[in-house]
Amino acid sequence: MITARYIGSEIYRRSSYGPKHPLAVPRVSTCTDLCRALRWLPDAVYLDAPMATVAELTRFHHADYIDALQRAEATQSVSEADRAKFRIGADGNPVYRDVFRRPAISAGGVMLAARMTIDGGVVHCPGGGTHHGRPDRASGFCFLNDPVLGLLTWLDLGLANIVYLDIDAHHGDGVQDAFHDDDRVLTISIHEAGRWPFTGAADDRAGGSARNFPVPQGCNDSEFRWLLDHAVVPLIKARQPQAIMLQAGADGLEEDPLAKLSLSNNSYLAVVAAVKRLAPRLIVLGGGGYNPWAVGRCWAAIWGTLNDFQLPDRLPPAAEHVLRTLRYDRAAGRNPPDHWFTTLRDTPREGPVRPLVRALAELAFEEGLPA
Ligand SMILES: [Zn+2]
Repeated sequence: MITARYIGSEIYRRSSYGPKHPLAVPRVSTCTDLCRALRWLPDAVYLDAPMATVAELTRFHHADYIDALQRAEATQSVSEADRAKFRIGADGNPVYRDVFRRPAISAGGVMLAARMTIDGGVVHCPGGGTHHGRPDRASGFCFLNDPVLGLLTWLDLGLANIVYLDIDAHHGDGVQDAFHDDDRVLTISIHEAGRWPFTGAADDRAGGSARNFPVPQGCNDSEFRWLLDHAVVPLIKARQPQAIMLQAGADGLEEDPLAKLSLSNNSYLAVVAAVKRLAPRLIVLGGGGYNPWAVGRCWAAIWGTLNDFQLPDRLPPAAEHVLRTLRYDRAAGRNPPDHWFTTLRDTPREGPVRPLVRALAELAFEEGLPA
């Protein structure tokens, strides 16, 4: 198998959505630093994400919206008209120092990942995963939609059978809508029921090109694995895709402050281990995730799993140091448990598989398999 590559950027270390925003926390830099401390990230496999050009971004986004983002970054302000029309500086999408550059670098990274894997291979791009971005406006902390831009890159290079799998706690609405009715991309999303953006119901198929698994609050590892084994993996096997893009937003973890699922990172690692055997091309993205310890440990463990590295039971001192020097201003940051510093893998959170979850798995195959 081809060596897995890691696409990162130092911009994530330096930029923040502002001190009170959930995205104030360091996530990609924590993952990168952990992987380096574990000696899992030699320079030869690390690539800096390039900033996408305006021409690349307008493959999906409207030119007047890209103009508005560049204007907001240049002036560090937003007009009333731009705020109303493009939702910049509204709905949790703040004007911040890098409001154009950072999402454009995330997009450039995911598009590079697609180009690099066109002949096969695996890329981890934890800065990507902004699945709520719309062609003409910001949504849900996402200014651009880098998964869509990466999927379009694959399609433009000739692929015609792709699975997009999204395990963020929020429904991947921007990606599903971008490929509504497009049978070249099957979008599969497991997300918390009843949570913003309130889309992705179990019977929502997006014209046949989607499957949705809205799971109840408290969803545990056993329930997640049930859906993986009884629905997600069979759907992907039946499809035999040329490529898989996995959005691994880490807000489904128990420790996340925004969502109410109860997964351990073992669920995330189980998905990664399953999908890496199911297609010759795989891109793994980040996404949500607002507890810096939970996110950093999860995404670093994903990189280890992509490479078949042995996850250590106890982290070596250099990796522990990365975690001990993190700052986090929410309640959970005041008294963090010791295992957030000393381990990578969580204790599993098994539990009963509720009938509702079993029903979701069965519903996915009603009216036959997706096209
Ligand atoms: Zn999310």
